[in-house]
Amino acid sequence: MAHKCDAIVVTCMDFRIQKYVQDWISKNLAGKTYDLIGYAGATKELDLVMEQISLSKDLHHINQAVLIHHEDCGAYGAEDSYERHVQDLNKAKNRILAKYPDLQVDLYYLYLSGKFEKI
Ligand SMILES: [Zn+2]
Repeated sequence: MAHKCDAIVVTCMDFRIQKYVQDWISKNLAGKTYDLIGYAGATKELDLVMEQISLSKDLHHINQAVLIHHEDCGAYGAEDSYERHVQDLNKAKNRILAKYPDLQVDLYYLYLSGKFEKI
């Protein structure tokens, strides 16, 4: 039976950000349904994440993808920097839009203070 979901949220597994992510979702996706992917480094392993997004799109017909990277991400190790996260977020957005041009893709950088910055 077909079922429909509004969005997919892709973020990191890191326990330090989960409360902030949940609060953000409650506020910004209020009344909406969403698939949730928690993977180390969020979109860092882009091939894996694309598989999940494709499933979400094909099975649940989402129309929005929210990608959240965060400060001090252990999956990036010594490569962790604001610039690198912005670069990878944009890379992910371009790859998603190349495959699904009708998706709305929103990018965020989350500070460990809980502050979200729209990219
Ligand atoms: Zn992380």
